[in-house]
Amino acid sequence: MTTTARHALPACTAQAHPASCARFWASFRRAGKMKPVTSALLDLLRGVLLASVVVGCGRSAILDTEFDPSVSGPGSGPGGMGASGPGPGGAGPGGGGLGGMGQGGEAPVCDMPEPEVCDGLDNDCDGLIDEGDPGGGAGCPTGLSGECGQGTTTCQGGTLICVPDTGPTPEICNGLDDDCNGLIDDGVPCNCVLRQFQNHEYEFCAIELSWDEAAAMCAQRGLFLATLGSPQENQFVFEAASAISSDRWWIGLRRNINSGAWQWSNGMPVTYTNWAPGEPNNSGGNEHCGQINRFYPASTWNDEPCDTPLFFVCESFGGP
Ligand code: BGC
Ligand code: CA
Repeated sequence: MTTTARHALPACTAQAHPASCARFWASFRRAGKMKPVTSALLDLLRGVLLASVVVGCGRSAILDTEFDPSVSGPGSGPGGMGASGPGPGGAGPGGGGLGGMGQGGEAPVCDMPEPEVCDGLDNDCDGLIDEGDPGGGAGCPTGLSGECGQGTTTCQGGTLICVPDTGPTPEICNGLDDDCNGLIDDGVPCNCVLRQFQNHEYEFCAIELSWDEAAAMCAQRGLFLATLGSPQENQFVFEAASAISSDRWWIGLRRNINSGAWQWSNGMPVTYTNWAPGEPNNSGGNEHCGQINRFYPASTWNDEPCDTPLFFVCESFGGP
């Protein structure tokens, strides 16, 4: 740390050549106010003097520009307040006090610990501001549309704001307003028809996909490929699907390759079946997925190779 050269003259005077040094610096100052001719003569003399005087004064003047604790100003020496920036307790002995912050003696923000709240201050005097998201974490409405509508209170910049739980994402065919523009499945190919039956929601998607792709698309919509657990449900699905197309539709049946047992994709046990006569025949040894409408207008089931592109039926299991 250095001070300015304002101590050069006194220090020079205090060194080995007090009188000559003082005269030298005094003449140096006066020269600036003299007329040019007189000033030029003085310059010659000064040139001679400079060699001897500066040798004597220079070293002490340079030394004196270094840190001198006895003369340095407030805020830089021992006991100075807040000289070292943020942090509890200031920088050294007699620093800015508990929670003292800032530079150059800025008033401490924190002098009495209190529970942290969201206000941009270090209320609990631990050197951290609004740590732990005080007041945050509650559900809140964002005021935005669609998937962006639900949010969570979050402390940001000393204020609680409602941050959307889900940001806008590109619109896809999933029955949701993904891009939060107030429109569901707008601007994308979407051939799924929504129907309800016994408190379950069904989507009949006239999109040709493999069984795995279809299951993935159902999952993307929070659904499973349909589980047909009764003759009534089977009839509902058959009629709704056939109203769209008499083509074959995937349902949630899949054969366990290891056990050979048929399973519903949502994990429910297979208690009801409606296989067509002679089915499932595992034709070609490669038919491990179940579908409806192969024998339209019968509402019976058939097994098919899982990579066959077919329409598919999704079903909700969390209630509509
Ligand atoms: C299907 C088979 C089915 C057979 C019945 C075929 O077109 O691919 O899964 O077993 O028809 O005749
Ligand atoms: Ca078959």
